[in-house]
Amino acid sequence: MAIQKLPDNLVKLIAAGEVIDSLVAVVRELVENSLDAKAHRIVVSVYPETWNLQVADNGEGITQQDLPLTIQPHTTSKIHDTNDLINIKTLGFRGEALHSIAQLANLNISSRVANDCGWEITVENAHLQQIYPKPSAVGTIVKVNDLFGNMPVRRQVNPPFKQQLKKIQILLGEFALCHPHITWQLLVNDRLIFSISGSQCAEKILPQLLKTVHYSDLKTIQKNINPPSEKSISHLELVIGLPDRISRPRPDWVKIGINGRVIKCPELESAIYSSFHRTLERDRFPVAFLHLQTSPRQIDWNRHPAKAQIYLDNIEFWQEEIKQSITESFKLTNNNISQKWENKRVENIFKVAENKSIYQLEQEETKQAEKDTEENIGLIDLQVIAQARNTYIIAEHSQGIWLIEQHIAHERIIYEQLQNQWEIVPLENPIILDKLLPKQIEQLNNIGLEIEAFGEDLWALRTIPKILLNRDDSLSTIIELSYGGDLNSAQVAIACRSAIRNGEKLTIKQMQDIVNNWKITKNPHTCPHGRPIYLSLEESSLYRFFRRHWVLGKSHGIQEKKA
Ligand code: ADP
Ligand code: MG
Repeated sequence: MAIQKLPDNLVKLIAAGEVIDSLVAVVRELVENSLDAKAHRIVVSVYPETWNLQVADNGEGITQQDLPLTIQPHTTSKIHDTNDLINIKTLGFRGEALHSIAQLANLNISSRVANDCGWEITVENAHLQQIYPKPSAVGTIVKVNDLFGNMPVRRQVNPPFKQQLKKIQILLGEFALCHPHITWQLLVNDRLIFSISGSQCAEKILPQLLKTVHYSDLKTIQKNINPPSEKSISHLELVIGLPDRISRPRPDWVKIGINGRVIKCPELESAIYSSFHRTLERDRFPVAFLHLQTSPRQIDWNRHPAKAQIYLDNIEFWQEEIKQSITESFKLTNNNISQKWENKRVENIFKVAENKSIYQLEQEETKQAEKDTEENIGLIDLQVIAQARNTYIIAEHSQGIWLIEQHIAHERIIYEQLQNQWEIVPLENPIILDKLLPKQIEQLNNIGLEIEAFGEDLWALRTIPKILLNRDDSLSTIIELSYGGDLNSAQVAIACRSAIRNGEKLTIKQMQDIVNNWKITKNPHTCPHGRPIYLSLEESSLYRFFRRHWVLGKSHGIQEKKA
């Protein structure tokens, strides 16, 4: 066949189909428009059988004159010239989405700006049919009907509706994290299936998405930062799940948002995962959400055709900032612990004692606690008062009592010391080892120890990790280390072996030393195997448990006389 130029409408259809390839893609485009219009309420309705959907918002609206322009190609209100291009603050700017959707579906767009009545346009086969007044509230409703009606194959290759719905739900959740002040609803066939209430920060949104998480399991760091060679200030918001409280069985909940949308940036994700190294149990993964608001000059969107991945300038700088922020959020400050609901374990203990009538009191107390913690920065002051079962250090602080397991708290201290100063020292008298396999010798070399043949089936170990010097069990520890693992696993093993055992009686002074050294570790929440180190019994929960709010007379069976 000879080469021919394609008819205009076919070119548009192909181009549109490349960008808008699914229900989710339509929802993404429409929601981005609502966000750009500064809506604070967005309702997405989907009618799967008919491939209809609608996005309604209470944003700024579109004027009567602009309404027909929205479906024209390359028509946007968001940028005007090249200068605007380097300073884009909106999610959209190409002026292509509504035009593309109009190639693939019939549209009804109704909108009202303040100080005018509402207007509606109908669009069929990519052509404007009518414009007429339509009473409505300020905001915009875009109805998409019979999506892909002219591209039946596209309907077939879309995954089953349940999966698409899941994707829409995830998408809305991700937008909600980046735009926490917005209230969201998702309806399917007019039935509400998912909603998110707006709040001030992502920390209050995350528990609405992950039902097992309470916001007191989270820690947020907010920072204004100046990246190198960039004039404008960037803002970093990092919400992490405290490692002794929440983790995931899969690496599926580390999300990175940049300038209002969640994207993939493997470099930043790996900075988060590596900061959680040796804080979670094996095969468990962290929960974290990072939102960077930075100058568009710092971002290169050309990493992925659908703009789902980016390159970020100053990537090492950001990785370092993230690592520091996570370290900061692990610190045991009053801020971390003074929440009402503590972690799940304690919550369950206290549930039994809970009583609806105290709810009001509780809330007031929360406010007081929040106020207190704002003033209290710095590490928590923990006073050791006793040892229980030769295993638990009992320490009190201004807002409660903690049980700290002595062995793993000590293990955390030693582990971090070993990481900071892994020192190999010469042995005055070599340790003689026998019956070593070549693999074991190689392993000891790998972790930096000097070992050489010393006769038939004998080897002399000439250097040793300093911490094992003059210890009775150094030989058995070395043998254990020779069985495998990298340097880090060796450090974990040594820390575990060298830490004070449970069952050992300690003096108050010894325990206070452990507590003081433990609370300044980088991650005091869990041991290097991911086990939680302390159990907190906050005064507020004890108060609830012992029902201290009860009126004295009432609890003694004496009725108070009403005045
Ligand atoms: P872009 O978002 O890239 O500008 P779109 O095709 O998505 O392009 O939208 C075209 C224009 O329509 C936008 O620039 C905006 O002016 C207007 N618009 C679309 N949706 C809305 C909405 N929900 N609220 C207000 N204006 C809207
Ligand atoms: Mg848009």
